[in-house]
Amino acid sequence: MSARILDGNALARELRAGFKQRAEELAARGARPGLAVILVGDDPASRIYVRHKVNACAQAGFHSEQHVYPADVDASTVLARLARLNAAPEIHGILVQLPLPRHFDADAVLAAISPEKDVDGFRAENVGALTQGRPRFIPCTPCGVMKLLAAAGVPIEGREAVVVGRSNIVGKPMALLLMHAGATVTICHSRTRDLPAHCRRADILVAAVGKARMITGEMIKPGAAVIDVGINRLADGKLCGDVDFASASEVAAYITPVPGGVGPMTIAMLLANTLASAERAAVA
Ligand code: NDP
Repeated sequence: MSARILDGNALARELRAGFKQRAEELAARGARPGLAVILVGDDPASRIYVRHKVNACAQAGFHSEQHVYPADVDASTVLARLARLNAAPEIHGILVQLPLPRHFDADAVLAAISPEKDVDGFRAENVGALTQGRPRFIPCTPCGVMKLLAAAGVPIEGREAVVVGRSNIVGKPMALLLMHAGATVTICHSRTRDLPAHCRRADILVAAVGKARMITGEMIKPGAAVIDVGINRLADGKLCGDVDFASASEVAAYITPVPGGVGPMTIAMLLANTLASAERAAVA
C-alpha cells in the first residue's frame, strides 16, 4: 500500500485565504485581529517558529507584534509586558513561545495571559473548558490534526486512536479531541510497556514524541491514518518526524509528511484562534 499524503501546506493555505477574508471584514469595522508574540532568549528553532507565525499574520492581514527579550531578562519585565498586552484593545491573542529559559516559571508566565487572549489554550481555565467539551481555544497543534483528519474524511467515531506522547501542549489535548470525536483513545508515553503492540492496534496513530523516526512501518496497522507531529533535526540539518516515513507510508492509508504536514496547520490554527478571539471582542 502507498499511503495518501495529508498535505498540511495545501489545507493551511486554503484555510488562511478564508481567514484573510474574515480579517478584512473585521478591519473594515475597525477591529483588525491582532496577535502579540513574546520570545525570550535566542533558541534558533524558536526564532524560526516566531518568524513563521508573524509572517502568517501579515499575509492574512492581521496586526502582529513581536516582543523579544534576551535570555537573562528578569521575569518581572515579561510579566509587565503581558499585563500591558492583556489590556491592549488591538491585541486579541497573546503567545509566549516555549521553551522559556530555565530561570522562568513557565506556568506562572502562561497564567499571566488573559484567558480571553490565550490563543494557545494553555491556561488552566482553557484546559478545563476543553476537557469539559466546551472549549474557548483549542490548542493549535491538536486542532490542526483534527482539521487534517476531517479534510481527508478519515473516520474517527468508534475507531481506535493511539497518541504517543502525553505533553500538555500536544499529547493530552490531542487525546481529548479524539475522545470527544468518538474514538477509543490510548495514550502512550515513555513508561509504556510494549509500545509497538499499542501502536499496531491504532486506526489513527498520532506520534508526538520528539524522537526521529521511532515509529516504523512494522508498528503500524495496515490502513491506519498516521499523523506525525514530531519535528526533529538530523545531523545533516534536515528535518524529520517521529515516524519513519519510508516504511510507514507502505503500510498506512494516510500519512502526514514532515515538513509540510502538521506544522503549517499549527500556524493556521493560531490564526484561527486569534481571529475567533477578535470576532468575539467585536461583538462584546
Ligand atoms: P514533550 O517532550 O513535552 O513530550 C514528549 C512526550 O513523548 C512525553 O510525553 C514523553 O513521555 C513521550 N516519550 C518520550 N520518549 C518516549 C518513548 N521512547 N516512547 C514513548 N513515548 C515517549 O514534547 P511535545 O509534546 O512538546 O512535542 C513532541 C514533538 O512534537 C516534538 O518533536 C516537538 O518539536 C513537536 N511539535 C511539533 C509541533 C508542530 O507544529 N508540528 C508543535 C509542537 C510540538 P513522558 O511524559 O513519560 O516523558
